[in-house]
Amino acid sequence: MSTPLRLLIIGAHPDDADYAGGGIAALYRAAGHTVKMISVTDGAAGHHVSPGPGMVQRRRQEAAASGAVIGATYDTWDNPDGGLLPTLENRYQIIRLIRGFKPDLVLTHRPNDYHPDHRYTSQLVQDAAYMVTVPAVCPDVPHLLRDPVIAYLPDDFQKPYPFQPSVVVDIGPVIEQVADMLHCHQSQFYEWLAYNHGHLDQVPAGEKERRAWLGQQLRTRLRPRADKYRQQLIETYGPERGAKIEYIEAFEGCEYGAPLDAAAKARLFPFLPKKG
Ligand SMILES: [Zn+2]
Repeated sequence: MSTPLRLLIIGAHPDDADYAGGGIAALYRAAGHTVKMISVTDGAAGHHVSPGPGMVQRRRQEAAASGAVIGATYDTWDNPDGGLLPTLENRYQIIRLIRGFKPDLVLTHRPNDYHPDHRYTSQLVQDAAYMVTVPAVCPDVPHLLRDPVIAYLPDDFQKPYPFQPSVVVDIGPVIEQVADMLHCHQSQFYEWLAYNHGHLDQVPAGEKERRAWLGQQLRTRLRPRADKYRQQLIETYGPERGAKIEYIEAFEGCEYGAPLDAAAKARLFPFLPKKG
């Protein structure tokens, strides 16, 4: 294998990175690349029964367990869940993270999103882009000579403009691993999110039944996305495979990182078919 790649997924909460990018994380790990996932906030707020310090501990363990499913690290930071702001201090934290990890590819939320923590995580990553190359900013950590490629995780928001994928990736081969990762977030998918979305009564009691239910939820969530970007799938994978793909992740290049041009796509997404 050529030089291993380094993927950094920066999410706001201790399930965002794998919820939106678990497939590419699993594909990277399967090819022997290095993956780090981050939750910028502590996850203390998002629970209807037991928010607070105990939940932080639980969320941290759940995230680490999810990372362990694919052999990735998954760190949960101490910033307050539901209270993240795009402060200078937080920007410096992201700059130090990117400089220290030296990613080839950084993935994060888009800047327009329903959740303020998602919006400000995106803002912080945008604010850190370019600054990672400026030596006088955070001089305690050596600066990078070049920006990494930065891309956005997929969402369905329409304003100010709908998600425009630069890359579409078939994650069908790793869909069960993604479900195994999400299954680690017990306090999220079987408790808080189920409560918040009003379907707590549908969550099965048994461990095996829950995992099957979550896998079904994942497939139901992802299936429409493949049809939404079918034309791009066909262009990427050819008419035969492109027509059959069921579960995908998609990524939109951020203009503030290194360009996600054809050469960058070939390097950062080596599991895509080579262009003729
Ligand atoms: Zn979130």
